[in-house]
This record gives sequence, structure tokens and C-alpha cells, in this order.
Amino acid sequence: MKDAWPDEARKWQRIEAVAREVLFAFGFGEIKTPVLEKTELFARSIGEATDIVEKEMYTFADRSGDSLTMRPEATAGLVRAFIESKTYAQPGPHKLFLIGPMFRHERPQKGRLRQFHQIDVEVLGDDGPQSDAELMVMLAHLLERLGLSGVQIKLNSLGCPACRPAYRMALLGFLDSRRGKLCDDCRRRLDTNPLRVLDCKVEACQEAVEGAPAMAEHLCQACQDHFNMVKQLIGGAGVDYQLDERLVRGLDYYTRTTFEAVAGDLGAQNAVAGGGRYDGLIEMLGGPAQGAIGFAFGLERLALLLPDEKDPPAPALYIAAMGEEARAWAFTTAAELRRLGLWVELTPEDKSLKAQLRRANKMNAAKVLIVGPEELKAGKAPLKDMATGEQNELALDQVVPVMAPAQ
Ligand code: AMP
Repeated sequence: MKDAWPDEARKWQRIEAVAREVLFAFGFGEIKTPVLEKTELFARSIGEATDIVEKEMYTFADRSGDSLTMRPEATAGLVRAFIESKTYAQPGPHKLFLIGPMFRHERPQKGRLRQFHQIDVEVLGDDGPQSDAELMVMLAHLLERLGLSGVQIKLNSLGCPACRPAYRMALLGFLDSRRGKLCDDCRRRLDTNPLRVLDCKVEACQEAVEGAPAMAEHLCQACQDHFNMVKQLIGGAGVDYQLDERLVRGLDYYTRTTFEAVAGDLGAQNAVAGGGRYDGLIEMLGGPAQGAIGFAFGLERLALLLPDEKDPPAPALYIAAMGEEARAWAFTTAAELRRLGLWVELTPEDKSLKAQLRRANKMNAAKVLIVGPEELKAGKAPLKDMATGEQNELALDQVVPVMAPAQ
């Protein structure tokens, strides 16, 4: 778990601001759900045999003995809220996004934390391919607006309960003959979640799955039609995507479309965003049979890709004040300007002019006003532009009107 200091936090703010703008254009509204949910919600939705539920959740009994979990992802809580509020009874699709912390007890490495932050985007109450395409187009817009290059969208279809069982059998038949080559986790996955073997990162497993049957060849007609329409729509919108048969993702609830955005320069943890369709989840959690699709991206991982700011924020005005009376004047003047939204800095103690100017310089203040007993008496003070070095006398009663930001 990491602290984010202002330089880092500003990157997040930039990402969030761009995300909100893009999301707004696609008609999404923001939702906030609790960080804590009942443990069984995640066990039922994400799946008992997934890495998250098996070994990564922060779970504890609260004072009433209820088992609670700090959310490892946002979809389950969002669907719980959707059902509880009966929002499903209103005409859909319901487009929602959530920004907040998620918790997974994973092995930390670059880009992988135990508390991380996601922007999670969901379209609930719709099963048509246009929603899938809209989400991917939006993700592409967002990454483009953030100035990220070299990001690619990987795409796959996992089929549905009608066609996946036959695929699973075919895959199991194939993997069974290679059981001896698989890692311990994957040997277990053969019994619980054989599709996960396809995206195991262990090299021996990757070699073992070479030539495995592909889901694409087992899709039923309805899934094929859906997938073809998704590809047609995103291709038409200019989204650069690549089909990836190995993209199965780690959660049980996915059906049909799954996708990820990957960046070349992130190392092993190269997925900046990932998601997919989960048509069975709303019903499974007690709602009606309505489709849904969503994706999430990690703020920390995106922040790693953003260049540092060219111009970190700096005070618009530094008032260097000497003597008790000038310091009192500076304090009230600063308060007035700050009320108008201007960043004004003062020295917290009575320091020499030199020390005050050093601090103003260090903070990269745009302008410095120098006020001492004599300036107060004369009713005017020098205002120095720090970029040009130019200095002008300014009447003290003109400081607020001159410096006030344009409304
Ligand atoms: P997931 O919920 O696993 O599909 O992940 C969606 C996105 O969340 C990933 O593409 C990452 O950007 C981010 N993410 C997931 N797990 C972590 C983690 N442990 N640390 C940092 N970011 C993460």
C-alpha cells in the first residue's frame, strides 16, 4: 500500500478529469458504493476458484460476527446496488462509473499494489454488441486524450453458457495430455477453471498450451453474430485492436466479449485496463436476467505511463512582508485574493527579505510583492515579475483589483 504525494495525486486528478469528460460525452453517471461488502457477494460473483477469492481478499469478521471483505473489484458491489435499488426496473441501459480504492493481497511489484485505485465503468441492463463497442471506443478515446501512445486493445470472446461447456471439454481433452508440463496452479485449474490455464504467465504453461483449441471456433451462432458486430463497430470507429485467444481474464462471471488495453512499457503488469461482458451476473445475484458489460482501469498503472508535468503549479503571487504591520496587511490581502481563487503565498514567520525571496523563488512564484513599514507609509510597493525581472510600483489599494483572476 502506497502513499500518494501531491505530484502523484495531480497525475490521478488529470486522469480523473479527462475520464470524467470522456465519460460524460458517453452519458455515464457517477456512483459511490461502500468499500466493504459481505464476503459472500464476492465469493458468489467472482467465483470460489479464482485467485482473488482463493487467496487475495482482505476478509474479516466485524463486531457482529458477519464476514466482510474490502472490495477487490467494483463490479460485484455495483451490481448489488443495482439490484437492491431495483434500478433494473427502469428502462436501460444504465451507464455508471465508480472511482475508488480496491484491495487485493497480491505479491507487490511494479504496477501491482495491495491497495490500488480504479475507475470502473459499467453498462447494465443491455446485452447488445453496441454497448461492448461503445465501451472500447470510449477506452480508446480516453487513452488517446491522455496522450498515451503504443496502447493496444486486445479482444476475445469467451462464448456463453450455451457454447462454452463444449469448448471447455475440448480444451480439457487437449490439456489433459499435457498435464505433466503444467505448473501446480494450472494442474489445479484443470479441475476448477481450465480456461485460466490459457493465460498463465509461467513459460512452461505457455508452451504447453501452444496449439490448444480456440474458443473462436466453438462459438455458437448467437455469440459469433455478437462478436462480429462488436468487431465491425469498433473497426469502423478506428479502434486499433488485436484478437487474442488467450485473453480469458481471471474472473468467473465473464461471458462473450473480453478485452484489455495493454501498454508496451509497463513490464509484466502491462494491462492498464481490462473488462468484459457478464450477462449472467445480475440474475445470479438475485436480479432479473439482464445483460451487462464493464471494464476497469488502474489509476496507478496509468499514472506510471504519464509524462511528468511540464509546469507544476506555482503561486501567482508571493507577498514578502517585513514587520508586524506589513505582515498583518499581507495576511488580509492574501485572504481576499485567495477568496477569489488566486494562489497567494506568505512567509509564516518574520524573516529577512533575502530569505523570503529565496522561498518565493524556490516555489516558482509568478510575481512577488515586497511590503515593509516604508511601503505601508507610502501606500505603494514594488511588484516584481519573476519571469521577466520587470518591477513596477503598485498602489496597495490596487493589489487586489490588479491581481484578481479574470472571472
Ligand atoms: P482487473 O480488475 O484485475 O481486471 O484489473 C483491471 C485493472 O486494474 C488492471 O488493468 C490494472 O490497471 C488495475 N489493477 C488490477 N490489479 C491491480 C493491482 N494489484 N495493483 C495496481 N493496479 C491493479
